[in-house]
Amino acid sequence: MHRLYENNDIVIFWNSVKCYHAKRCVTGSPRTFDINRKPWIDMSLADNPEIWQTVSTCPSGALTCVYKHDVDVRFDETGHRSVAYAGDKQIGECVFTVDGDGWTIVHTAVKQEFEGKGIAKRLVYKVIESAERAKVKIGATCSYALKVLSE
Ligand code: SF4
Repeated sequence: MHRLYENNDIVIFWNSVKCYHAKRCVTGSPRTFDINRKPWIDMSLADNPEIWQTVSTCPSGALTCVYKHDVDVRFDETGHRSVAYAGDKQIGECVFTVDGDGWTIVHTAVKQEFEGKGIAKRLVYKVIESAERAKVKIGATCSYALKVLSE
């Protein structure tokens, strides 16, 4: 399962398949990470240094994080894509096709000046998360999305 969690400054990527339950998250920031709560991650309950430090101790890579850089990523179901905005300016997108077998991510791109900030990964995660919530299969022909799916 892939999920995105965010507050005003930080985005957490959660890939449950990679977790081997070392529990550094729940001991490092018990207010943020509580496996008895749904959703189990709440980023409003601790400060950013505590959250960042805790995520960086996850040994499996199940939890990773990036700064938001004032960029919002939204899912556009009718447009078959996720879109990244800096203010009201579109600065990236991840496009998928829909067929009988599910969704296929065909293209991911971020404007050059916004590269290296984790925005492409956020775009791909947003589509994967949405597919999982909709209970449809997700695949990719886009090489970057394939890499994210195989991580
Ligand atoms: S620290 Fe990482 S590997 Fe350990 S329980 Fe939390 S998510 Fe899983």
